[in-house]
Amino acid sequence: MGELLLESYGKINLALDVLYKRDDGYHELNTIMQQIDIMDKVILRNRKKGIKIECNEGDVPLNENNLVYKAWEKLSQKTGIDKGVHIILDKKIPVAGGLAGGSSNAATVLKGLNTLWNLNLSQGELREIGVEIGADIPFCIMGGTAHAKGIGEKLTKLNNFSGKMVLLANIGIPISTAFVYGNLKLDNRNTRVDIDKMVKYIEDDDLPNVARNMENIMEKTVIKRYPIIDQIKKAMIEYGALGSIMSGSGPTVFGLFDDEEKIHRCKERLENKVEKIYIARTI
Ligand code: ATP
Repeated sequence: MGELLLESYGKINLALDVLYKRDDGYHELNTIMQQIDIMDKVILRNRKKGIKIECNEGDVPLNENNLVYKAWEKLSQKTGIDKGVHIILDKKIPVAGGLAGGSSNAATVLKGLNTLWNLNLSQGELREIGVEIGADIPFCIMGGTAHAKGIGEKLTKLNNFSGKMVLLANIGIPISTAFVYGNLKLDNRNTRVDIDKMVKYIEDDDLPNVARNMENIMEKTVIKRYPIIDQIKKAMIEYGALGSIMSGSGPTVFGLFDDEEKIHRCKERLENKVEKIYIARTI
């Protein structure tokens, strides 16, 4: 087998709390991550030596800064395998959009090379390698719905919450996760995002309550700089979303819907106000 054509899915955070900054510089998270069916396509081709990366999206680095490069490099180091790979990325997930596009690509490459190179590594082993590259990668390897703690690597799989309609609106301004963490105000907080309550609603497959209780602690920081995010959230609710928040470190805003007509109408209304807008489903 010399080539694999793979699907690399994005994610949203149905709830996101940042607890504190740890001594090692990372932030301790408490979050619920949900895979969605918006996806990039990833082609892996065997190559004798070295790595070659191609991508349809100009903003994406084609060198060692690409997370797929790091995935190949780390896997090669860990296994002692000295093989090359040619990776072609066909991106649809907005870059630096809070949908973990890069992390998902890296997860896809780890899983794909595991197959292409006949490594037989377990999902657990791949997740351990993944977290050394990026905090969202273990979840992207696991998929579905999960409660994540630590920097994102302590994962508990939750009941299936698939098939829910999600409207994703992206303002087309890339936001770096480092910028958001750097501006977060974590001191003097007397409220916490109630993750346990959300876990219960998800386990009950209770879409209205999940949607109504969604919360993202990073939102305030990003809205302060980009007030349009708040306007999009409000518009989504006005046009029939059961709930709407920003995903991850933003700036993508999403709404959960239970009505096909409403989600399409909302998409039409927002189309000329945002750069990219997609209807997706939870997986
Ligand atoms: P997260 O939600 O995990 O914070 P994100 O969706 O906000 O991620 P990405 O799309 O992963 O952000 O991109 C973040 C940065 O990573 C971009 O600025 C981009 O230059 C770089 N990058 C590296 N590899 C990739 C890749 N394969 N796809 C997209 N961006 C990549």
